[in-house]
Amino acid sequence: MKALRLNSWKSEAVLEDVPVPEPGPGQVLVQVGAAGACHSDLHLMHEFAPGVLPWSPPFTLGHENAGWVHTLGEGVTELEVGQPVAVVGAWGCGHCEHCLAGLETYCERPDRAPVPGGGGGLGLDGGMAEFLLVPSVRHLVPLPDGLEVVDAAPLTDAALTPYHAVRRSLGKLGPGATALVIGVGGLGHLGVQVLKAVCAARVIAIDGREEAREHAVALGADLAMAPGADTAAQVRAATFEGRGVDVVLDFVGSDETLATAAQVMRQMGDLTIVGIAGGTLPVSFFGLPYETSVQTTYWGNRQELVEVLELAARGLLRAESTIYTLDDALSAYRDLEHGNVRGRAVVVPNDSFSG
Ligand code: NAD
Ligand code: ZN
Ligand code: ZN
Repeated sequence: MKALRLNSWKSEAVLEDVPVPEPGPGQVLVQVGAAGACHSDLHLMHEFAPGVLPWSPPFTLGHENAGWVHTLGEGVTELEVGQPVAVVGAWGCGHCEHCLAGLETYCERPDRAPVPGGGGGLGLDGGMAEFLLVPSVRHLVPLPDGLEVVDAAPLTDAALTPYHAVRRSLGKLGPGATALVIGVGGLGHLGVQVLKAVCAARVIAIDGREEAREHAVALGADLAMAPGADTAAQVRAATFEGRGVDVVLDFVGSDETLATAAQVMRQMGDLTIVGIAGGTLPVSFFGLPYETSVQTTYWGNRQELVEVLELAARGLLRAESTIYTLDDALSAYRDLEHGNVRGRAVVVPNDSFSG
């Protein structure tokens, strides 16, 4: 089968022929219907040096996947062949305290989890291929009625990550609150929708691309603006009584965006860093409004994915996707790199279940 492989750090991915994997006991082979192209894959190709992450290439890219159950490994009885499923991306040991709580992103047994913090497409072979080997049935969520595989794939990261972040700050997102979304790309366009679906806060978006700003407003943002010298003052002025932003979701994470975030915070607000552009923010007692929480966030868990899929099945969330064939997967990343994607770039290796 064809697979888009990352063979070493600081290299472009390559489309190669690899054997179709065979599921062992407890495993499931999924015929991939869609795999989202995440900006993290560009960071993987271009920025990471050996030793930064606890796992390394070679592996097949694609950590945002959905498809159809193709072959059941010995002992798997919970799923049926042909059933549409979304893949929970982080594959931990399944038994440590965090894994038992569903937080496989934060598995603490690297001796038992081959790619701590990773999964298919992040250290192990992912979904930019015709088939994906999923090591345990617990990483698969059957799709609710009314949700297509191609629409489900981007939800497993681009919606799940903002959903997890918003849930952590939900107590600060009352009707008088303001949320700021910085970066309205794959994650941000779903972040705006998650906020609209789960709370009554007003939503402001910042993006350098005019198309992304228009997209944010079309998806329900109350206001969208370009980054610039007066942006922080304009954002603050647009908050309730000018008191500042309660929750910032920074989907970029550069020095510039973190500085903007710090300038707009309300006292007791949450500044959540989602983007991994590598920026830093000085944190000190008087450097930020009183009781500002600065936090990172990473992906989400199975139960949250079930909730995200439910929101989508009910029409409250929808990933806007630009579709590419597997042969053209490199163009998806090229377009993403150049800011030419509206919503998410999604690679479709198989149009339907072919058994
Ligand atoms: P994307 O390229 O689809 O979207 C990024 C958006 O940010 C684009 O619309 C771009 O125009 C905008 N942008 C860039 N610089 C900006 C600036 N200075 N000010 C305002 N807007 C700016 O990327 P994505 O796939 O949505 O990923 C976003 C980030 O989140 C990446 O760094 C990615 O690696 C990271 N990520 C983190 C997690 C996590 O769990 N923490 C999960 C997935 C992705
Ligand atoms: Zn991702
Ligand atoms: Zn674990």
